[in-house]
Amino acid sequence: MKKKYPAVVEFIGDPKSYILACEDSSLRYCRDCEILPTCIKKHNMCEFTPNKHYNAYFLEYWQGRRNSIHVTCNTNEIVDFIPFEDFEIIEDVDEVLSNKEAIVRCITHEYDSSLFDIKYNKKYKAIGISRNPDKQYTYLVMDESMDCYFYPNHFFEIVEDRDDILDRENGIFVYDKSLFID
Ligand SMILES: [Zn+2]
Repeated sequence: MKKKYPAVVEFIGDPKSYILACEDSSLRYCRDCEILPTCIKKHNMCEFTPNKHYNAYFLEYWQGRRNSIHVTCNTNEIVDFIPFEDFEIIEDVDEVLSNKEAIVRCITHEYDSSLFDIKYNKKYKAIGISRNPDKQYTYLVMDESMDCYFYPNHFFEIVEDRDDILDRENGIFVYDKSLFID
């Protein structure tokens, strides 16, 4: 498997939206915290700093629009579902921030009784491949919830994959930092 360079992006958003919540909160951001009005702790650690550069890995769907980014933040973790509009691409030599996707058809009745997930015979967009700890291949698919989740590859047949993104050798492997050159 050929290693790729992550893209380099510059944060151009409002850092105030990304103030991290204190340890007393189970939420990631201060802005979402229900204890904020009475909290006496300092809230000044931001996830991103204006004009600073970060490594970015791929673009993901958020509620049906492929507008969120997987990106490293000030704590050096990779965080997901961050709005892409808050960044500018500085460099992307391996085109990891592309919108490439494959079309797959669901061939399982596994989820027939569930409200979301995937429906038998319906086509879905797949944006990447992964190998789970049991060494099984999974596809990252935008399902009925309009967000992306991993499903076993044998739940699908590939309808169209012009860019070979679901290829087991050279596909777009997601959520695996070891496949990137740091
Ligand atoms: Zn607090």
